[in-house]
Amino acid sequence: MEAKSLKEAKLLKNGLLIDGTGNEVQHGVDVLIEGNKITAVGKNLSVPETYAANEVDIIELNGKTIMPGMTEAHLHLTWQDALYIQDIDFKPIEETMVTAILNAETLIKSGFTSAVSAAARGRVDIAIRDAINRGEFVGPRLLANGAEVSATGSFVDLQPNHVRVHGLAILADGEDAVRRTVRSLFKEGADLVKVNVSGESLSAHARGEMTLYTYKEVRAAVEEAHARGKRVYTHARSSDSVKICVEAGVDIIGHADFIDDEAFEMLVANKDRLFVVPGLNWLVSTLEHGAEYFGQEAIDATGYAEGLQIALKNMRRLYKAGVRVLPGGDYGFKWCPHGGYARDLEHFVKLVGMTPMDAIVSATKYGSQIMEMEDRIGTIEVGKLADILVVDGNPLDDISILQDHSKLNVILKDGEYIARTLEISHEAETARV
Ligand SMILES: [Zn+2]
Repeated sequence: MEAKSLKEAKLLKNGLLIDGTGNEVQHGVDVLIEGNKITAVGKNLSVPETYAANEVDIIELNGKTIMPGMTEAHLHLTWQDALYIQDIDFKPIEETMVTAILNAETLIKSGFTSAVSAAARGRVDIAIRDAINRGEFVGPRLLANGAEVSATGSFVDLQPNHVRVHGLAILADGEDAVRRTVRSLFKEGADLVKVNVSGESLSAHARGEMTLYTYKEVRAAVEEAHARGKRVYTHARSSDSVKICVEAGVDIIGHADFIDDEAFEMLVANKDRLFVVPGLNWLVSTLEHGAEYFGQEAIDATGYAEGLQIALKNMRRLYKAGVRVLPGGDYGFKWCPHGGYARDLEHFVKLVGMTPMDAIVSATKYGSQIMEMEDRIGTIEVGKLADILVVDGNPLDDISILQDHSKLNVILKDGEYIARTLEISHEAETARV
């Protein structure tokens, strides 16, 4: 990758600005990007005199939407659109690595310029994060995770006891084992760790309503993470598991579907420090397509149909109470493949009842907060890094257009083109006085 020249600028002209703050849209807005930063936002901006005419790319948008790049808040780069979770568990790590690199590219080309991993196999995330940061290949800003810290008998304990491979989980029972595992994951370079506190109803012996870790085990993980300035991301569907997470100081709670009133109040009381990522598309897509692969009986047995309704009701009330609910949908299975990430925004609008603007804020501004990069990304404001999308159409009128990659006319990360289908022009020398 070429070194970034500061003598390189881009001027996006005449866009519909959705700036990510939740403020009203503005028409006819120009955005100037110098190097990797947004340096001006306003009407009728001109090419700064300090540049030669050919140093500034001018892109005429004709009213297309300018918005911040989005954040996928529940990513699994190492899930390779598998049919069975066992396929993920058993796939040789070398092949997994190749697919994960391709998934990183798919993610950013889907308009998601940053992502929080919610677990990965081996050191794959870590190696990919570092390679992206070195500019060796294209991908999002990534918070890397490691294998899922899980109790024996949890839903990711997929192997018969007489066969153990280094799969998607590390089994750790008891406080000491959890501590040791979490320490080793951070030693390897993870930004955060994933802890499975509840079960998951695709697995009959460890259903979503079951709580599979104790408070002390979860607290041990949190202590080890926080001692290093790092965070814990949990899988927590059952009400008790969510209560344990809040009490133990967990930072990011995945799912939170089955919360009772007490768990709801606990989340609300802690809304300034934690995030909820429901992973709704996992449920929606499994209900839509699961029967094609597994038969209706198996899908009925998961209880997902009822579970989805409960999850929607709870997400609605969390959203109304001001809890930050973020998009992220466990993509990486045959029936919910990588690339569909923006479906979660549509679910937020159509199923949870968010306004389209709030769904975009959750994917952008809240995304920057879960990335711990609020001062640098997530909104289109002067001084922020240029992670920007140009969308053909207005996602406030139809949120589903964000799923159509052909409508993502320009994708910029850190001021560089990741995708561009619009023409660039340069100011003619003669235009200069
Ligand atoms: Zn997940």
